[in-house]
Amino acid sequence: MVYLDYAATSPLLHEAIKAMREAEQRFFANASALHTPGHLSLNKIEETRELLAQLINAEPDEIIFTSGASESNNTVIRTFEGHKIITSPLEHHSIIETAKALGGKKTPALYSYMLANNEIGEFLPIKDIVKKARKEGGFVHSDLTQVLGKLPIDVKALDLDYATFSAHKIGGPIGVGALYVRNGVPFKPLIIGGNQEKKRRGTTYNTVGIIGFGAALKYVAEHKTWEIYDTKIRTLRDELARRILKEIPGSSLNTDLKNSLPNILNASFEAAEGESIQLYLDAEGIIVSTGSACASGDIKPSHVLMAKTGDAEVAHSSIRFSFGLGNTKEDIDKVMEVLPGVIDRLQKISTLERKKK
Ligand code: PMP
Repeated sequence: MVYLDYAATSPLLHEAIKAMREAEQRFFANASALHTPGHLSLNKIEETRELLAQLINAEPDEIIFTSGASESNNTVIRTFEGHKIITSPLEHHSIIETAKALGGKKTPALYSYMLANNEIGEFLPIKDIVKKARKEGGFVHSDLTQVLGKLPIDVKALDLDYATFSAHKIGGPIGVGALYVRNGVPFKPLIIGGNQEKKRRGTTYNTVGIIGFGAALKYVAEHKTWEIYDTKIRTLRDELARRILKEIPGSSLNTDLKNSLPNILNASFEAAEGESIQLYLDAEGIIVSTGSACASGDIKPSHVLMAKTGDAEVAHSSIRFSFGLGNTKEDIDKVMEVLPGVIDRLQKISTLERKKK
């Protein structure tokens, strides 16, 4: 299989599997309990907290574990319920929909801008947003879900008040995430009814999941994975982009290669439908996504591609190739053995359909 859907979710790192297997047996006790097994569980959770804090230049008590990026995003927006909430049109639905439902007119405002988008990989002007927010006394949140492990992160240098992370985008388990909350900024818990996370998020600690997240974070820190992304992965991504443009008529890129994460490539193929391309590739063992996996099952064109291109045809004919640490040059060769034929077939069907009408 050629897996090119890492931005949707990454396979578990071997290190995370091993750590979680061990944790299931050794660290099963409720981490809030006063007994010794409880303390042992809590110590492991605190290890992960330290690891993440170090990696993003935060204090450990500025990290809250959550069930994933969607919950982290919801928590920040909920904190600003009734306030002006300004987001980019490229945000994940867990920001856009929540802001729509809960936003109001009160100040201070919350600005929520991701540093890099998950569908096209492109960078957003977060420095300008922070400047703007500071001028008017507003707060800034950034969804860094796709950035963790792909670029070095320093929340203090970025001057962020809140930041969102998810374990499953870096080889940790699905269902675990984190929220950075700068000391002293407003905060309202989303889940009330427990003393966990210093009363900032009720419910029993997900010890095993957090340990898996810790193992993935350790891998990221020890291997400085952002350096691998900047070299090996960028080379693979750029090579695929070059070959697509050269070898496939009617192809175009929705990702600006010079202003994006090194592992995401979004391309459109004239007169070929994204879902059909995805299914034909799937039949050949090549795994990609159309727009965003979170939006699949939804027949509307991706809001990100619409915001970026303003063209529903381009959005409907788009494919996201997202790379991870397991990809090789052979994967690119395999894609380019199959993709031109798939597009050609679909374009021909589409021409036939048009002629019949
Ligand atoms: N934000 C971004 C930018 C994402 O890419 C995703 C996952 N597609 C999410 C939020 C949601 O993450 P989770 O599955 O951890 O809730």
